Amino acid sequence: MKKIIIIGGGIAGLAAAYRIQRKISEGADLECILLEGSGRFGGKIFTEKSDGFIIERGPDSFISQKPATIQLCKQLGLEDRLIGTNPGTPNTFVYTDGKLMTMPDGLSLMIPTKFLPFAMTSLFSLSGKIRMALDLFIPRKVGNSDESLASFVRRRMGEEALNKMAEPMLAGIYASDPEKMSIGSTFPMFVEIELKYRSLIIGMLARKKALLVSADTDVTMNTGKRPTTSYSLFMTLKEGLGEIVDAIIKKSPDVQFKSEAKVAALEKQNHGWHISLANGSECHADAVIIATPGSITKKIIKPIAPELAELFERIHYVSTATVTLGYKKEGFSHPLDGFGFVVPKAEGKSILACTWTSSKYPHRAPDGYVMLRCYLGGALHEEIAEKDAETIQTLVRNDLKEIMGIKETPVFCRVFKNHKANVQYHVNHSEIIDSIMENLKKFPGLFLVGSSYRGIGIPDCIHSGNQAAEATLEFLGAKSE
Ligand SMILES: Cc1cc2nc3c(=O)[nH]c(=O)nc-3n(C[C@H](O)[C@H](O)[C@H](O)COP(=O)(O)OP(=O)(O)OC[C@H]3O[C@@H](n4cnc5c(N)ncnc54)[C@H](O)[C@@H]3O)c2cc1C
Repeated sequence: MKKIIIIGGGIAGLAAAYRIQRKISEGADLECILLEGSGRFGGKIFTEKSDGFIIERGPDSFISQKPATIQLCKQLGLEDRLIGTNPGTPNTFVYTDGKLMTMPDGLSLMIPTKFLPFAMTSLFSLSGKIRMALDLFIPRKVGNSDESLASFVRRRMGEEALNKMAEPMLAGIYASDPEKMSIGSTFPMFVEIELKYRSLIIGMLARKKALLVSADTDVTMNTGKRPTTSYSLFMTLKEGLGEIVDAIIKKSPDVQFKSEAKVAALEKQNHGWHISLANGSECHADAVIIATPGSITKKIIKPIAPELAELFERIHYVSTATVTLGYKKEGFSHPLDGFGFVVPKAEGKSILACTWTSSKYPHRAPDGYVMLRCYLGGALHEEIAEKDAETIQTLVRNDLKEIMGIKETPVFCRVFKNHKANVQYHVNHSEIIDSIMENLKKFPGLFLVGSSYRGIGIPDCIHSGNQAAEATLEFLGAKSE
């Protein structure tokens, strides 16, 4: 019987395990063990339930446009557990010049697709709006070299669009510095649109139209009716993202999930791989999937592949912190009439973004309470995420008082620090990954997955886990049909 070892029980490793389980359920003669270094599974996904509040320490949602998470949830029987954002008031605010201002309707990521709301908004100056509209006439970039998000946005839409939208919203998602982050590896859609349509505004409008047409065609061709299920852009599960982790473990009875099983070293043997654990135990595998963060993977592979490990030195990580606060609803000083706000660096605050969690998603706070979640740190404010929890809490409460006028004492305030947890996709990241994958060919039977490579979001990690499982099955001669 062939044996597969997966190192790391975050969502990428778990997705790989579940894909292998499905193959075993079809009759494949395989043994699969997942070794997780910590005492729990899920990695960055960590849901806590406390007094009726559902608190996410790390990610709080995933995007539905990339299908891997929804597909996995369907396979796990979790389709009925999926929830989208509340339909009511999907306003997002930007804190600018000392006040919260609504993002104009029709902004698709950062591209205006409706004229009137864009023309009327006071979020941008007149000269800023004219500069953004110049995107309609600016020629496309010559050559296909990668560039930073800042360089891309400055070139197409100007400095104001960069400072008020791209930096807090787009770089914010990646906790990254817009001057360093790769547009090609983080928002490849923008690069494709420029290539195809030249103008981002024209391209975004064309894509919107195409989506509407294809939705209509789909509806007419398949059923003649409107689809009964539609997903909002951001999705989660009724009891939080941890439901996916629990379901994978429950629905994979043939996979051995071992916690407190930190891998210390990996050695190539004539027939397969020898794995040594920090607790002194050892095991053998015919194929190994390493699903740890790149900073750990580098250490595991260094003795057998120093050249490969060297390439990992070029991938950087930054620290972030999330702070979740619950309040009594009665007498709460803010209407929470939206999904939350982002803060441009120029405003000089500690908070990068604040999600009004109980307004954005159902089931997050018990009746009579509201819940907020603030995001801090990242490449532009890393020193803040490294402060002690008490200082972080004070900084957050001061900011919330100033920005939203909240003076009430929270019923709870939980600070979660993510030390060097957020991988950074800098300019030319994809070249580094291409080199890593090329170099990896020297080690047949060894596969690398997770957020350090070709996608940070949960759907990307699940997709990479699925792909690694398929490649492993093929290597062992047990590929899925
Ligand atoms: C604060 C924060 C907020 C985020 N928000 C979102 C969001 O809202 N939506 C979204 O889509 N994405 C979000 N992300 C990104 C996403 O959560 C991660 O990219 C993804 O969960 C990473 O999954 P992974 O399996 O690659 O790695 P991880 O989750 O890091 O899992 C790696 C696992 O390997 C284990 N491990 C480490 N060393 C060893 C060893 N030596 N031996 C064995 N096991 C080991 C770890 O304990 C861990 O369990 C967020 C990330 C952070 C940090």
